[in-house]
Amino acid sequence: MSKRSWARPVNRANRVRFRFGCGFFLLLILLTPTVRSATLEIGQKARSIQPGEVLLLTVESDEALTGVSASGFDRTFPFFPVTEHKWEGLVGIDLDVRPGSYDIAVDAKSLSGVLEKVHRIKVLPKKFPVRELKVEPKYVEPPASEMKRIQEESRLIKQIFSGVRPERLWEGPFLRPVPGEANSSFGKRSVYNGKPRSPHTGTDFRGAEGTPVKAPGAGEVLLVRNLYFAGNTVIIDHGQGLFSYFAHLSKFDVKEGDRVARGDVVGRVGATGRVTGPHLHWTLRLVETRVSPLSLLEVTQ
Ligand SMILES: [Zn+2]
Repeated sequence: MSKRSWARPVNRANRVRFRFGCGFFLLLILLTPTVRSATLEIGQKARSIQPGEVLLLTVESDEALTGVSASGFDRTFPFFPVTEHKWEGLVGIDLDVRPGSYDIAVDAKSLSGVLEKVHRIKVLPKKFPVRELKVEPKYVEPPASEMKRIQEESRLIKQIFSGVRPERLWEGPFLRPVPGEANSSFGKRSVYNGKPRSPHTGTDFRGAEGTPVKAPGAGEVLLVRNLYFAGNTVIIDHGQGLFSYFAHLSKFDVKEGDRVARGDVVGRVGATGRVTGPHLHWTLRLVETRVSPLSLLEVTQ
């Protein structure tokens, strides 16, 4: 199951030693006990191992690592260095992942080669309840004249979420964008005016109209615009495939292309788009997995 590559330091220094004849053999004997396999240890932090959860994986080696990534759920999740010997990365379990055992293959590059190890996780079932909401009819059966706009917006958002910038822009713990309480709406199957619609892939936070919405982590603002269903929306690219999407805002405080630090105000709570009242909707994407913002808050603390 797990595979280790054996570190055999072959470098110029070794070749130079040939010139020293007998001395080389003496050196070889002295060096032999120190030649051993490099280790790769994997640690995990998670709120639970269930659909919609974020895992924080830690990879440690006795060798200095120059690059780490993890493959699982048909995706590759990039990692970032904490020290030379310790890297961390976020892995997302999408909302629709079926319960069962899954292998996450961790690849770590060091000067002596590539170290590989498989980390097996067991995804437990999660039941997402149904929520019934009453909204304006145009948000349930949009008029034909709006279909082109809706399709274009859906394509644009998909394209943004599919980007994986190699560098990580965020650092340290993520923070709550508004002080208000979050409800347990993430993953709920939504029924609008009696008609089933796609699952709710964000978390809703209480907040009065006008409450400042803070960037939960540093990043680059990729989108600031009014969308048909989401109303006034801001998307922040945190790097390495992680995006925050804030919907239903009453006002924008940033423009596309702005760099934001954690805690910078990006907009104000509002009730634009398909809503029942003012609140903040925060959707998260991690290498295209739909994951709960509350689980990200917890694993990065
Ligand atoms: Zn929402």
